[in-house]
Amino acid sequence: MAGFAWHDGRMTCDGIDVAETVARTGTPVYVYSANRLRENFATVRDAFRVQLPAPAPLIAFSVKSNSNLAVLDVLRGCGAGFDLVSGGELHRIRAIGADPTRAVFAGVGKSDDEIADALDAHIGWFDVESIAELETIDAIARAKSTRARVLLRVNPDVDAKTHRHITTGKRENKFGMRVADVEAVLAGLSSLPGIAFDGFHVHIGSQLTDVAPFCETLERLEALIARTRAAGIAVNTLNLGGGMGVTYRPDQPAPTPSQFALAMAPALSRSNVKLVLEPGRVIAADAGVLITRVRYVKRGEQRRFVVVDAAMTDLIRPALYEGFHPIAPVIDPERDGTTSPCDVVGPVCESADFLAQDRPLPPVARGDLLAVQLAGAYGFTMASNYNSRPRAAEILIEPWGSRVVRRRETYDDLVRGEEVPPIELCGTPLTTSSRRLADEP
Ligand SMILES: *Cc1c(COP(=O)(O)O)cnc(C)c1O
Repeated sequence: MAGFAWHDGRMTCDGIDVAETVARTGTPVYVYSANRLRENFATVRDAFRVQLPAPAPLIAFSVKSNSNLAVLDVLRGCGAGFDLVSGGELHRIRAIGADPTRAVFAGVGKSDDEIADALDAHIGWFDVESIAELETIDAIARAKSTRARVLLRVNPDVDAKTHRHITTGKRENKFGMRVADVEAVLAGLSSLPGIAFDGFHVHIGSQLTDVAPFCETLERLEALIARTRAAGIAVNTLNLGGGMGVTYRPDQPAPTPSQFALAMAPALSRSNVKLVLEPGRVIAADAGVLITRVRYVKRGEQRRFVVVDAAMTDLIRPALYEGFHPIAPVIDPERDGTTSPCDVVGPVCESADFLAQDRPLPPVARGDLLAVQLAGAYGFTMASNYNSRPRAAEILIEPWGSRVVRRRETYDDLVRGEEVPPIELCGTPLTTSSRRLADEP
């Protein structure tokens, strides 16, 4: 199995020593295993290919889970398509020369410019989330004398049974269209000549650890597909979105991609569609770690605080979603065999700035490197500059060597684009009193 493991007390990635590698950039730094990305992609592809040999499913990697160009390029090399949620993500896949006709563009708030750019790029599909959006795409496509290939995103009102912030397929979520609206749209397709309807899209949430919500969703879609076809409208494509979970902690195991595929296979083969999937987390999460260095160990009243140089600005999942990431020393993880609970916290001025709470860890000391594992998805892509912290570096490891694929931001990067206006250029005219104040030496 490719990826991260400890050998003789040292963390390695596909044969490369992690501590030596991160000495090139310093910490905090994200480290990715190219081979693990390839292996995970192949696992998903093969799981569904076995169940649905023809037409071959399109595996469109969710760019928002990890959008580093080098990571995207590894997956492009495996034959991945891409799932996009912004014009910026379209820019990224074009920057690596990926084929936009194998990309899907989702998102509830696409701008007119984003829609126009995606049409010019010959995007594969728009996942359309509302009637208003559909009418806008229709108008822009007609103005360009073209047609947009469209999947209607259905909100199936299914509980994905995941964290409330990452559930997207319930009636009360902002995503997708009610089945009644979808059917109204289908009845009026002839008045939308800029739209080429191609099928349906659903994405009910992320980090699903149960196959049942997928099956329930598929059941509702099967009925919708049948009614649509009965009305004489062809349904060619079914995009089931992303959401396959990963095992962040042993007590909450996620099914494997094969188990997901197997559970859905009967309904999928009955539906007779081209399948599109938009996996992100299940491909990227365990292919990345965040390496951080211990700055201080602090004994509080109740507990031990391990203050590290990574923060919620580098990895926000613990603060935002109660996300759990295994943490272990990069060198000598077993140590003396004892552990005691601690909070692993960052330097940011927020109590929510933690990477782990009440976590058993061996004794650690200032200068030690810690590996925050399963951080390859929704890690760097959610990073911010809060507290004016430059964003971390990123390294990609191939078995033959490692490459810095994003340099650490500098202080100059932090202030790029900002400007202190000269006083006479202030937008609003100065009042006499404020001018007097401004004129004072
Ligand atoms: C975020 C997202 C995905 C990826 O979800 P994962 O849980 O990372 O697989 C796929 N499709 C859409 C529309 C998304 O918003």
